[in-house]
Amino acid sequence: MYSLRDIMKKNKHKYIFIVGGVMSGIGKGVTSASLGTLLKGKGFRVNLIKVDPYLNVDAGTMNPTEHGEVFVMDSGLETDQDMGTYERFLNQKSIHEDYITSGMVYKTVIDRERNLGYKGKCVEAIPHIVHEIKDRIMQSEKDKRSDITIVEIGGTIGDYQNIMFIEAARRLKIERPTDVAFVLVSFLPQPSSIGEMKTRPTRIASQTLNSYGVQADFLVARSEVPMDQKRYEKLALSCNVPKEHIVGASDSESIYDVPLDLDTKRVGESILNVLSLKPRKGTHLKEWKIFVQKTKRAKKVVKIAIVGKYFDTGDFVLSDAYVSVIEALKFSAYTCGARAELTWLNSKDFEKATKKDLTVFEEYDGILVPGGFGETGIEGKLRVIEYARKNNIPYFGLCYGMQLMVIEAARNVLGWKDAHTTEIDPKTKHPVIDVMPEQKEKLAEKRYGGTMRLGAYPAQLTKGSIAQKAYGKEKISERHRHRYEVNPEYIQNIEQAGLVFSGTSPDGTLMEIAELPKKEHPFFLGTQFHPEFLARPLDPHPLFTAFIKATLGKK
Ligand code: GLN
Repeated sequence: MYSLRDIMKKNKHKYIFIVGGVMSGIGKGVTSASLGTLLKGKGFRVNLIKVDPYLNVDAGTMNPTEHGEVFVMDSGLETDQDMGTYERFLNQKSIHEDYITSGMVYKTVIDRERNLGYKGKCVEAIPHIVHEIKDRIMQSEKDKRSDITIVEIGGTIGDYQNIMFIEAARRLKIERPTDVAFVLVSFLPQPSSIGEMKTRPTRIASQTLNSYGVQADFLVARSEVPMDQKRYEKLALSCNVPKEHIVGASDSESIYDVPLDLDTKRVGESILNVLSLKPRKGTHLKEWKIFVQKTKRAKKVVKIAIVGKYFDTGDFVLSDAYVSVIEALKFSAYTCGARAELTWLNSKDFEKATKKDLTVFEEYDGILVPGGFGETGIEGKLRVIEYARKNNIPYFGLCYGMQLMVIEAARNVLGWKDAHTTEIDPKTKHPVIDVMPEQKEKLAEKRYGGTMRLGAYPAQLTKGSIAQKAYGKEKISERHRHRYEVNPEYIQNIEQAGLVFSGTSPDGTLMEIAELPKKEHPFFLGTQFHPEFLARPLDPHPLFTAFIKATLGKK
């Protein structure tokens, strides 16, 4: 253990652990990201870490309908959607080490054991798993890449799965009491049959946390409507948290309001005080305020149809699978002084659509087909794309949405009715989209996890193309997540059909962007990569902005 003098001298780096009480889905990710935004605004370099307690090594193999979008980092790591929220709020890239799963931790420890890395010791959850977690959390301190590390611990207090992470945090707090703060984000339900806002579930969450040896320094009390004074007092007394450290956080109009709301409540100053830090000068919050003002002022409305498949889960409709796409559309709309009104259309419903059925799309200013996998709803998407092309409706295709543009052109312009992707029809005579050669082995061996073309790759844009003009430059880098590509053998045919490949890999072999020239269509463009992963409130993505401008033009 360190002496107090050691702590003051050696450890300038600070840690904030965010844990969740009562239930999931109450905004722990947004609270973490907002706190990060706030502290960046107070002049500190911040990195945000998400720990996910599941045993999947990464999020890449999980079904987006159940777990939401798989976010991709520059490094190619496939992560939970919270990592996307962090990048958007902080307006900065996270790195590989900022995402930790139990699967990663256990795999490292077990691999190390197999290589005699523990020199004959008995390897156990405590201490070895806990040490591995701590090492990973402390990486940014070793790299000196931030001043404050905020760690969001996935799951809820009381889960078995996240206990090792809480234990790692507890140990860090014991070693460095003045460098570590705990924030409990909890929920106060207000059952309609009672009418009163109840503090008890939060009290139990706080007590459970205590039973792990951890006392929350701050309590963020989420509720539907604002909390009254009586609840503040009750919570302070029962959770051992000073009243000034209880932050009432009722539902807000937009998640982007939260950092400013926390700032009004001087939460940044209080946390910095607990960590023995003083606010510095920063510009992030000022820029954030300007963005939030834009969201409130936007008057015009653009109606966009998103035609996808990961919407329905039981009786519920969920758009979490496309969260980065949704946010990217909103940011670009705000930049153009507009609000994006999004409608989810299930592509399955258009499989057998007649021309007349498709006229519903006349209601929309633009159509977007996002990424996806497998066969479901594909014929529906192809019909919608054909309709957009023939009726001059602005169209934006992301990844699968671009591959399908190519298939549509092959089928309906070149007349190859069987043209397809080998992902769905491996025997087609016209495999215009085909698996990349290095992928064949992986598929044959069932090596699916983390083996797609993943992460940031550079691309070269054609001067004067719609894409190049939107970016305002010729060299770009964008994030990928796919196994299939435009088949190089068909590039010439597809270009004869009218599509221009305006972006390619620097060696010219991989097709990255397809578009119809401006004189043929107001906006008909698709990307093999996922531009949505780099769209930010303070830095909207140029292709999304070009799409929104085209939809405004349609009006
Ligand atoms: N299924 C396609 C592929 O693997 C597209 C993937 C995607 O849209 N992300 O290439």
